[in-house]
Amino acid sequence: MTRMGRILRILADAFSARMLSVPIIVGGQRGVVLLSLSLILFSGCNSLASRFMARAVEQAGEPIRPVERIVASPIRASVGLSVLWAGHATVLIQIHDKVIITDPVFTRTVGLLAKRSVAPGLDPSSLTRLDAILISHIHFDHFSYGSLDQLPRSARLFVPSGGIEYTPEYGFAETRPAKSWQPFEMDGLRITPVPVKHFGGRYGFDAGWNSEPTWTGYVIEYKGTTVFFAGDTGYDPLIFMEIGKRFRIDVALIPIAPVEPRDFMRNVHTDPADALQLFNDLGARLMIPIHYATFFQGLEPTPAHAQTLLEQLLDQRGLHERVKILGIGEQLIIKEEAR
Ligand SMILES: [Zn+2]
Ligand SMILES: [Zn+2]
Repeated sequence: MTRMGRILRILADAFSARMLSVPIIVGGQRGVVLLSLSLILFSGCNSLASRFMARAVEQAGEPIRPVERIVASPIRASVGLSVLWAGHATVLIQIHDKVIITDPVFTRTVGLLAKRSVAPGLDPSSLTRLDAILISHIHFDHFSYGSLDQLPRSARLFVPSGGIEYTPEYGFAETRPAKSWQPFEMDGLRITPVPVKHFGGRYGFDAGWNSEPTWTGYVIEYKGTTVFFAGDTGYDPLIFMEIGKRFRIDVALIPIAPVEPRDFMRNVHTDPADALQLFNDLGARLMIPIHYATFFQGLEPTPAHAQTLLEQLLDQRGLHERVKILGIGEQLIIKEEAR
C-alpha cells in the first residue's frame, strides 16, 4: 500500500467513520458500490446490525467506571511469570526478564460506536520497556492505532500477515508478519503464531480483500514457561487439540464473550462453556478469561453476563483452582523467580 493509502486509512480510523471511509480509501466507482453495500449491511436492512447500533447508541451516555487500583510499576525486577489483565484482550505478560503485551487498547472508544464501560487497568506510560507486542487481529478492539502509539518503540510488533498492509509505520524495532506455525526466536524468547477461528477485515466491507489471514493466536515460550493467547476465537476442537499436542501450556488466555446472540457469535466467539472446552482441549494448567466486561459489546443482558455464566460453570465443575478470574488492573504472580 502506498504511504498516502496508509495515511488515509489512519485518518479513516481517527474519525472512526466506518462507512464514510469507504470512498476515501478505495475511491471511484468501486468505493461507491461498497459504500452502498456497507450501508445495507450496517443499516435497517439487517435487523441484527440495527439491534447492535441501537444498543451502542443507548450506551453512549453511560459513564466509564474507574479502575479500583492500578499497578504503578507493572514490570517487576524479579518474577518467574506474572500476568496483568488491563481489560478486554490487553494482557501484560512477564516471564523472567521478558515483557510482552497482547492487543493493547487504552482508548475510550473503539471503532464506530463501541465505548469502554471501565477505564484501562494499565497506564501505558508505566511500561518502560517491552520485548514484544502481539496483535491477534485487525478488528478495532484489538488493533488500536492510538494505543500502539503510546508504547515503547524498542518492542517488536507482531501482526497477522494479512494485517501488515493495515499497519502504520510507528518505528518499532521490527514489524513481523505472523504466520501460523512459523516461530520467531529472539534471545531465547520464542513466539509461535497459531491458528484460531475468527474472521477478517477491519471495516466490515474489506473482510474478503486479504489473501493472507488477518487473525491469529500466539504461543509464547521462554525458559520453560509457556503462555497461550487466543485473541478472538470461536471453538474448534481440531485446532485446539493440535495446539495442545504441540505445546505444554502453563497459562491460557481465552475469551469468554460476547455471548449473545449465540447463533451469530458461536462461529467467532467462545462463550464461557466453549472457553472451558477449549481450555480442556489445550490441556493447559491455568486459564485466565479475557474479552469481557470492558467494552459495551454484543447483546448481553447485563455487562457481567459472561462472568456470571463462567462462575456458575466453575462452581458446578469445581474448577476455581484452575480458572482465575482477574479484576481489571489486577496482576497475578503465577511463578516467583527461581532462586
Ligand atoms: Zn474480533
Ligand atoms: Zn474482539
